[in-house]
Amino acid sequence: MLPMPGNATGRTDVLTMTSWSVPVVWEGTFNPVLLNSLYQGTSLTIAATVFAQGKYIRFLKRFLETMEQHFFTGFNVHVFVYTDQPNEVPQVKMASGRQLTVKTVPTLNRWQDISASRLFLVQALIDDELLDYADFIFCLDVDSEFHGHWGTESLGDLVGVLHPGYYKAHRSALPYERRPISKAYMAPEEGDFYYCGGAFGGNLQEVQRLCRTCIINFWDDRTKGIEAVWQEESHINRYMWINKPSKILSPEYLWQDFAAREPEIHIIRFSGVAKNYAEIRPNV
Ligand code: UDP
Ligand code: MN
Repeated sequence: MLPMPGNATGRTDVLTMTSWSVPVVWEGTFNPVLLNSLYQGTSLTIAATVFAQGKYIRFLKRFLETMEQHFFTGFNVHVFVYTDQPNEVPQVKMASGRQLTVKTVPTLNRWQDISASRLFLVQALIDDELLDYADFIFCLDVDSEFHGHWGTESLGDLVGVLHPGYYKAHRSALPYERRPISKAYMAPEEGDFYYCGGAFGGNLQEVQRLCRTCIINFWDDRTKGIEAVWQEESHINRYMWINKPSKILSPEYLWQDFAAREPEIHIIRFSGVAKNYAEIRPNV
C-alpha cells in the first residue's frame, strides 16, 4: 500500500524546493512506484543523446550497458549515438521498447567544438525527427555511467542538474562566464545554481529552444573572437538563469567518481568516470 503523501518524511537536510516553487529531486523526496503508475498505459517515449567522438568512444559500452539497467527501465527509450566511428559502436542488448540509432558525424579536432556542436545537432534532431515522436529528451555526457535508478521523477518541461562541484557554493564562487562581452555573461548579483552541461533535458519544445538560443549566443561570441569559459555549459547556465527550469535534479544525477561521497548523497544515479584529460582529448 502506498503511504499517504502527508505521511511522507521527505528530506530536511537539503534544498528540496526553489524560490520559484520548483522541486529539487533527491532520494527520499519521491515515490517511484506512484510516479511510474501515472505513466502506465501511456506511450511515454524518452529520447536520449550521447556523443562519442575520437577517444571518447571507449566510454560508450559502459554508458550503454548501465543505461540499460537504470535509465527509464520499463519505458520506451530511444538513444541517439553521435560518433565519427560508427563501426566501433558496441552491440548492447536492449529490452523491448528500447532502441539505438547511430548518427555519423565528422571528426572535430577541438574538444570545445565537439562539446558545443552537441547543441546544434540536438536541435536538428528534435526538428527533423523527434517533435511528433518523443515526449522528453535528455542530453548526456558519454564519459559517465549509471549506478542507480533514473526515471519518471526526473521529467519536467525544462530540467537542469545541479553540478556536483558547486551545489554548496555561494553565487560569487560559481564558474559562470564573467566577461560582459560574452552572451553567457552573468553579473555578480545573478545566478540561482550552477547547472551541468553534461546532463540536462526536458520536453522537446523547451530543449529545442534552449539549444537554439545557446547556439545563436555561442556563434555570436565566436564572431567577436571569444569563447565562454565553459563553452556551451556557460551558455546553458545563462539560459537557465533567464528561463528557470521547471524541475531541478540533485547532484545524484551527475556525480563525479573522483569526488568524495557527501553525507546528503544517499544514492549516486549517474556519475562521470575519472579520466586523464591530456590523454583522451584531441587538444589541450
Ligand atoms: N566529447 C567527445 N569527444 C571528445 C571530447 C568530448 O565525444 O574528444 C563529448 C563526450 O560526449 C563528452 C562531452 O563531449 O562526454 C563533454 O566533454 P567532457 O566529458 O570532456 O567534458 P567534462 O565533463 O570533462 O567537462
Ligand atoms: Mn564529461
